[in-house]
Amino acid sequence: QKYAHRYVVKTEHFQKTLPKRSPYSHKGSFGRGLVVGGSQEMPGSLVMAVKAALKSGAGLVTAGTIKSVIETIASECIEATYLPLSEMNGYLDNDSQILLDKYDAIAIGIGMGRMDETGILVRKIAKEANCPVVIDADGLYHIKDCLTMLEKRTPPTIVTPHPGEMAMLLNIPVPELLKAPFTYTLDFAKKYRVYVVLKGTYTIITAPNGKQAVSLAGNPGLAKGGSGDVLTGIILAMTMQDQSIFQGICNACFIHGTAADMLVEEMHSYYDLMASDVIEGISKVYRTFS
Ligand code: AMP
Ligand code: MG
Repeated sequence: QKYAHRYVVKTEHFQKTLPKRSPYSHKGSFGRGLVVGGSQEMPGSLVMAVKAALKSGAGLVTAGTIKSVIETIASECIEATYLPLSEMNGYLDNDSQILLDKYDAIAIGIGMGRMDETGILVRKIAKEANCPVVIDADGLYHIKDCLTMLEKRTPPTIVTPHPGEMAMLLNIPVPELLKAPFTYTLDFAKKYRVYVVLKGTYTIITAPNGKQAVSLAGNPGLAKGGSGDVLTGIILAMTMQDQSIFQGICNACFIHGTAADMLVEEMHSYYDLMASDVIEGISKVYRTFS
């Protein structure tokens, strides 16, 4: 009974909890999401998150980023809308104006780099957004020294670190984290009242109330740039659909890992699988299991 609060994400969970799409639904039924990130150096990561969010069922997705990134990615994802934000030297600047109340969920951090001004913007969004916020990648770097700020948020906060980023948040070496990943993430989730998605070969999902799940889906084909950005987009979409945040994150991990597994089974290999293939693979998961 010691681990009664802990379980493995199963296909049955996904099938039981994935919200049905009503014939009377419209795009507003599935949320308006915002993804803030990107920089001159990393324009592509943003488009992967945006596409993955739309592909997994979000109603509307806006990419908030600098003008040069919008010019690069707009033709890559014609279904998204774009919000030009202010720029300093190829990175997002803190005087960017965003009407946060327009959105049902926000993902921040992807491909944005580590410039100080960008960090101010990240912390402002995390502080002021009155909706679920997913913080990933460089966004995690920008909040690492003010984690107590997260405790004060009322709507859910979701952090999605890989082991290197989690170790940075905990200020411990990676091997130390990997000795007890369940315990470290549990303590962190409770302390800062956040959902933690610790990514890796297995992904550990932890809720602020101490509930934990592990997703075993996925394979070494995902060990490639862009995979995490796709997961963040799927998580964003799931938080805007009708399921609990915890279940939504578990379902997002199921979709992400299972898409990769089905692709490797059918047409790809661990070597050639690309993050953009995984986005296409989301269709396979939905067609097979929904
Ligand atoms: P990131 O490091 O942010 O790009 O995230 C990588 C994503 O790919 C996470 O969702 C990981 O769980 C997944 N991933 C990476 N390597 C593997 C692996 N060897 N087996 C299963 N999943 C993996
Ligand atoms: Mg990442």
